[in-house]
Amino acid sequence: MTTLKFIPYSSALDTGFWHELTRRKLDIYRLDSSNQSIYGYYSNDANDNMPALFNIDHRCFDENNKISNQQQQYSVNGTLKLVNTIEEFKTFDIESALKSESSILGSGGSIEMFMTDDQKKYYNAMKKMGNKKPTKALPRPRFPIARFFFDLTTNQKFDIFIMMCIFLNMLCMCLEHHNQSYTYERILSYINNFFVAIFTIECGMKLIALHYKYFTIPWNVFDFIIVIASILGQVLGEIMASYFVNPTLLRVVRVARVGRVLRLVKGAKGIRTLLFALAVSMPALFNIGLLLFLVMFIYSIFGMSFFSYVRKAAGVTEIFNFETFPNSLIILFQMCTTAGWSGVLQALTNDRPPDCDPTLKLPSHRGDCGTTAIAIPFLVSYLIISSLVVVNMYIAVILENFSQAQEDVQQLWNDFVHGNVLENPQKLNRFYLLIFADLKKYIYHYWFAFPTFLIPTSFNLLNPIQSIGERFSTDEITAISKTLDSNQLHACCLHRQQNLSFVIISLKQAVQHLNNQPQSASEYIFIINDPSTDPIYPGWPVRNLLTLLYYHLHSIEQLNIICWRERFRDGHQHVNHSLYLQLKPESISNIGDTIPPSSGWEKNERQRLGSRQVNLSTSMNPIHLAETAVGLNLKLMKWRLAPELDLESLEQMSCLLLGAGTLGCNVARCLMGWGIKNITFIDNSRISYSNPVRQTLFTFQDSCENKPKAQAAADALKIIYPGIKSIGYDLTIPMPGHTVSDSTMEKVKEDINLLHDLIRQHDVIFLLTDSRESRWLPTVIGAVEQKIVLCCAVGFDSYVIIRHGIPTKESNSSSTTYKNYLPGNKLGCYFCNDIVAPVDSSIDRTLDQQCTVTRPGISMMASALSVELLVSIIQHPLRGQCPASIHPDREESVPESISCLGIVPHTIRSFLSRYSTVLPTGEAFSQCVACSPIVRKAFEDDGFSFLLKVFNDLNYLENLTGLRAMQLAADLHEIIELSDDEEI
Ligand SMILES: [Zn+2]
Repeated sequence: MTTLKFIPYSSALDTGFWHELTRRKLDIYRLDSSNQSIYGYYSNDANDNMPALFNIDHRCFDENNKISNQQQQYSVNGTLKLVNTIEEFKTFDIESALKSESSILGSGGSIEMFMTDDQKKYYNAMKKMGNKKPTKALPRPRFPIARFFFDLTTNQKFDIFIMMCIFLNMLCMCLEHHNQSYTYERILSYINNFFVAIFTIECGMKLIALHYKYFTIPWNVFDFIIVIASILGQVLGEIMASYFVNPTLLRVVRVARVGRVLRLVKGAKGIRTLLFALAVSMPALFNIGLLLFLVMFIYSIFGMSFFSYVRKAAGVTEIFNFETFPNSLIILFQMCTTAGWSGVLQALTNDRPPDCDPTLKLPSHRGDCGTTAIAIPFLVSYLIISSLVVVNMYIAVILENFSQAQEDVQQLWNDFVHGNVLENPQKLNRFYLLIFADLKKYIYHYWFAFPTFLIPTSFNLLNPIQSIGERFSTDEITAISKTLDSNQLHACCLHRQQNLSFVIISLKQAVQHLNNQPQSASEYIFIINDPSTDPIYPGWPVRNLLTLLYYHLHSIEQLNIICWRERFRDGHQHVNHSLYLQLKPESISNIGDTIPPSSGWEKNERQRLGSRQVNLSTSMNPIHLAETAVGLNLKLMKWRLAPELDLESLEQMSCLLLGAGTLGCNVARCLMGWGIKNITFIDNSRISYSNPVRQTLFTFQDSCENKPKAQAAADALKIIYPGIKSIGYDLTIPMPGHTVSDSTMEKVKEDINLLHDLIRQHDVIFLLTDSRESRWLPTVIGAVEQKIVLCCAVGFDSYVIIRHGIPTKESNSSSTTYKNYLPGNKLGCYFCNDIVAPVDSSIDRTLDQQCTVTRPGISMMASALSVELLVSIIQHPLRGQCPASIHPDREESVPESISCLGIVPHTIRSFLSRYSTVLPTGEAFSQCVACSPIVRKAFEDDGFSFLLKVFNDLNYLENLTGLRAMQLAADLHEIIELSDDEEI
């Protein structure tokens, strides 16, 4: 007899699968490494001599999109395990994974339905704890005495002896009785002391043997406490008996002895499992308890309004009645165990004399009578709901956990043994996929398996394998094909009738028939979809079917199998490559409940048992690679450190940078770091030789070519990171005090319109120019358009960053004083602290004043901080309207001004000479030359003509806002000097 061999699957993991996996890992699973259920499929219609392919593609995660069993594609359920580190991947216990794979088959129990997510975590943690293997063996001590005790106490016989002592101790406790004689009591007391001594000695020996490690085992701690409690109990008992004669207290102390009995729990596995089941059930029980309380609450309110005056009789007594809410709860609680409900019913249905007196003047209008018509539905519905549903749920939950707590591992085998697979042959096929995804390099390590049991027998063929055409006539094959098409089963059995037609029956029926009538074996043909096209050997699924049948069939002579293969060529169905096998089964049912070892891991490319690797980085567009890698870096931050971080909002931000100089370059770089992809520059200057060393986006080459800064910066960003959308505008921002002549009028008007459009199109405006007056127009437009405006200005060794308030319509009028914080619409702008309008500052400047003379690090720090401030603003739910604490150092008093990244200050002012930073908060100035209502209104109403007046008339703004009047009132000279000092 020849032995049958099988062709294993080859896994075909589609690129789409890896992409989808990557997406899910990034957005959904993150660091979650629990088992995910996925789906794959195989088809029968491969070409000849091709390996049987098992396909997993992008659809595999979606249960709704599960590949339906059609067009010769058969879907298979599987488990995906995604580990987080390569070490975890390498050390993964593959064997036990396959075994616990089976737990999937039986899991998804109804119990999880009763639990919240947190409770599920607890439940799973408890379950894991229950499955945990014993910890490492304790080291044998070096010292001779300790070693002696170690050997003694770890001996199994010693354990049995202690168990017996506990048991005998229990018996002695039972011997105590009422009215015992003095001698009897003395003897029992001596015996008790004897046991305490034994347990104390045991505890002492273990302590010597294990030192402090004794306390690392929970059961030892328990024993230790019991021993201490016993000794204390004895001593206290003596003391109490001789000094205070308080028998109650004495009895309480003595009862502590009962704890010793609990030590039996350690020995009895059954009790332990039950206890464990109870512990695991806690969360579900708590929820059901709440539900029960809710039901009882409703019924007690109901009961109180109908039966509070019912005369006390039968089940309704002084304690059990509906007079108050607590009493109602008590009577309902009694009845939820169905105890005494007939008595209550009797009392509530007493509705005519002499059982009650309807003429009594009581608020019920019925005297102390009950109402049969209400009482019966009330009680019956309560009993059904509470006792039948809720109480039974208690039982169901504990029982289910009890079964869960038992070894999970046996599940697949149990399914085999108890025939669940016979009913649902789909369960025969499962797959397991273990993956470590190195998303930084786009390398995926994976193991792929089809679990199968290695049974202690071989599959012996009675006759050589035939193709289906050699064994059956064309008519028969057509008949089989028709029967199968109408049923679409993964595996089934054909029963040949007298008239040679076939009837399809389930595997379970077939096994029953065959076990009853073993001699009719030739009439039954088992049939299974076989993905292999090999002309000699059947495919892998056949193997699991055979194992199943060998287990369940007891003494039959032959087993007929068709490995059904079906494919379509040129619109015709071909099945002739199907195989027909006749086997001589050897029953393996005698192997009992021991689980045979499992196997089924796919070999790697070198035909060794090892993991496979997929490297997608070579096949991927480097731009896309960079994009996902940048995204991953940010997401890691979110996974590990700031789970509330809203990266999506950041990514969608568009930023307008006014100025592509030192600040502009650094701000852009930092924005890129945060994943912001939309950056626009405005600048009117060109790159000079001094620029590249400080302006980090430019190179010497750029300065040789004297490129425009805005465009060069935008190009540089794209070179650094192609995923960015960046544009540069060579634009001069019109400024107050810079006179507009008739010849330049049109150009200026154009520039203003362009600037206005750009500000409107962007979410955030950065003011990074190097003169004060150039910030004026963007500040006005930003305030009018209600954009987030961040102003960053640097001096020689100081810098200031201000987030402008975003004025709202209603912020115009009110003059409330704010104690702890200023709302976002009350915050000041860059000009709010100034009481002079901006003028052309370049006119009187000497060379050293015109150049940017700052310490080089200042602009880096200021740029970085302004971007970080923006990120904090975006993370706050109110965004630009986020309030600012007036005392940011006492931020805990103003939770309103805190985002998930911390406080969101209004102003950051730093002095490098002292390495100090202050966070002042300034209120919007009602006469501000830039953000005050009057300026905004003038701009909105008159637009360009208003601006023209500002540009050409030095005093126009000050007159408009009333600043001029203020200056005249004050000491003008002093103020100007001060503001010069402030100028940065
Ligand atoms: Zn202002």
